[in-house]
Amino acid sequence: MSLVPTRVLESIYDLDPQALAAAGVKAVLADLDNTLTPYEEALPSPALRAWKEALEAQGIALFVVSNSRKSRRCPDFCAALGIGCVRHAGKPGTKGFREALKQTGCRPEEALMVGDQIFTDVWGGNRAGIATVLVKPMAWGKNPGRILRYAAETPFRWLGRSKPGR
Ligand SMILES: [Mg+2]
Repeated sequence: MSLVPTRVLESIYDLDPQALAAAGVKAVLADLDNTLTPYEEALPSPALRAWKEALEAQGIALFVVSNSRKSRRCPDFCAALGIGCVRHAGKPGTKGFREALKQTGCRPEEALMVGDQIFTDVWGGNRAGIATVLVKPMAWGKNPGRILRYAAETPFRWLGRSKPGR
């Protein structure tokens, strides 16, 4: 089912670079806001920088696929982290994912998509044939729409968690 994530984890830091490499992952595609960083942060945290370095040490590229419409936010953040990005990705459409695969030189089965939203990150990644990891949003912010959306996502989080063989 295309709305069910392959895996459900608390955060990106539960993805172990060594284990990913052993599983044949060559690129981690990631949502930006509330997945790699809270909305309010303009610069990558030390923890995120360290995780990116650990991925690279295993030969894995980190690459952002974002729907962000703020013109400089995504490219500035990714430049500071030293990674590539596709913005205005149009998730859950597959165009942004195809572009990310092209830029990282990966086939869909060599990539992993990690994000905090079912109806963009997971749905789009699944449609693009990429294994998907759903994480918890890093911060709730003041937007009540986010809480409503999180409620609507609950069955799919649950289905992803209850999948066998994880
Ligand atoms: Mg997000």
